[in-house]
Amino acid sequence: MDEPVRYYSTNRDTPTVVLREALLQGQAPDRGLFMPDRFPPLSADDLGALADKSYPVIAHTMLRRFTVGMVDDATLKSLCEDAYDFEVPLEHVTGRRHLMRLDRGPTASFKDFAARMMARLMGVLMRTEGGGLLILTATSGDTGSAVAHAYYGVEGVSVVVLFPIKEVSARQRKQMTTIGGNVTTFGVEGKFDDCQAMVKRAFADPDLSGLRLTSANSINIGRLLPQAVYYVYVYVKLADAAAQEPIVICVPSGNFGNMMGAVIAKRMGLPIERLVIATNANDEVPAFLHTGRYRKIVPSRVCISNAMNVGHPSNLARLVDVYGGRMDEVGNVHEQPDLDCLRRDLYAVSISDDETRTSIKDAYDRYGLILEPHGAVGWAGLEHYFRDNTESDNTLSVSVETAHPAKFPEEIRAILGIDPDTPPSLAGLENRPETYETISTEYESFRDLLLKSPHKA
Ligand SMILES: *Cc1c(COP(=O)(O)O)cnc(C)c1O
Repeated sequence: MDEPVRYYSTNRDTPTVVLREALLQGQAPDRGLFMPDRFPPLSADDLGALADKSYPVIAHTMLRRFTVGMVDDATLKSLCEDAYDFEVPLEHVTGRRHLMRLDRGPTASFKDFAARMMARLMGVLMRTEGGGLLILTATSGDTGSAVAHAYYGVEGVSVVVLFPIKEVSARQRKQMTTIGGNVTTFGVEGKFDDCQAMVKRAFADPDLSGLRLTSANSINIGRLLPQAVYYVYVYVKLADAAAQEPIVICVPSGNFGNMMGAVIAKRMGLPIERLVIATNANDEVPAFLHTGRYRKIVPSRVCISNAMNVGHPSNLARLVDVYGGRMDEVGNVHEQPDLDCLRRDLYAVSISDDETRTSIKDAYDRYGLILEPHGAVGWAGLEHYFRDNTESDNTLSVSVETAHPAKFPEEIRAILGIDPDTPPSLAGLENRPETYETISTEYESFRDLLLKSPHKA
């Protein structure tokens, strides 16, 4: 196979590294984000050959292009089979419009796809190299449980999750606090922003340099590569790949990691005619595309699609980079990306909570489709796109459902008057014993807790 792909920092002030380094470091030393220095191509023939393949086989075919030099082929194959042992439903909705449900993993959000692969890759590194890692993660809900489940029992790795006690639902909390083992959870008496600030301080704290801290949120390139796979999967299952049939894909977005997976797939050659980006009222990216000026939203707006309440998406720097510009970690644009090109490839729209609720109701009344708030933002975004681009009406399209409706039973009940079925992954959660410590937002006592075993890696 070819030379390994190398990874550069979007701040351009760090020498390129191999995947192993990029995974273990998370963020580049210059505070930029790692990006692959090339996108190994997927030809029409490659895509055609995947049409009848299973999800794990497609994942293996895609990921080996990036992991060559780090894991051998047979190992990667078995990691893919082990990580992707759940279904990925593709539902036909109407005309040529479809829905892809990424909600059947063990914690019922799309974050399982990337977290499970990243954990397994890091597990391989720890097994071959020894040593230990401490994964430190702040969560507003779904990331914490996906990461905790994915790393549970991975030898050489400990996980610490910080969550804002008053901002997560009981169900979301129990998905993290009932795991135990190498997973430690802290409920913080503060907001998500406080949790994130504590984590950021810990990464920069020389007193903790002995702990080998790393991040498992979507600043890590290990979270993005596996998110390119399902776009290839849905394409080869629904499109005429040999004819390079175009597809429109809609991604409900917050931190824009999921969308970057689609951008990577497009750069590799997936015929994505238009990528539709749907946000909630946190519309800083749609506004940027429309006006060319970037303004983050501080504090972020609170919406019912709570996992997308992001006022400054960390992955935006990567999008700007792919389109030839440069944005630093705090959101200053040093060089404008090619806005014409961005507007040609992307269509961005912001959906209000009212419209999100209407979308849930409409999709159910018209098509019997049960959506939760994030997926409903996506579905509404796709409908906006087709209203604005009537000539594309017959183009194959798919919107992504990022969480299981049963994660948001109160909202679904209020809008549709029904109770969504509980998937096996969420069943029985109520009765499992919880373990977590409540802490204040004071950094020093948090640091002392980190320095105490058993979380010490
Ligand atoms: C995290 C999350 C999103 C947003 O994904 P990004 O990659 O941050 O854009 C959307 N929906 C759900 C359910 C999520 O958990």
